[in-house]
Amino acid sequence: MTWTALEVYDSVQVVPDDDLKPHSLIHCECHPRFEGGIFIHNSFDGREATETLLPS
Ligand SMILES: [Zn+2]
Repeated sequence: MTWTALEVYDSVQVVPDDDLKPHSLIHCECHPRFEGGIFIHNSFDGREATETLLPS
């Protein structure tokens, strides 16, 4: 399971690839959270992105 970072205007959106349902870049039904200029979508299949994409 992988994720894709998309540049959208002046922000970045992190979206899961091949998820159970498609994601929208505007008002996505997964209710993305906004952290430090990055919209992180919530996967419908339960995978987690923060461990690999946002190293502290
Ligand atoms: Zn989404």
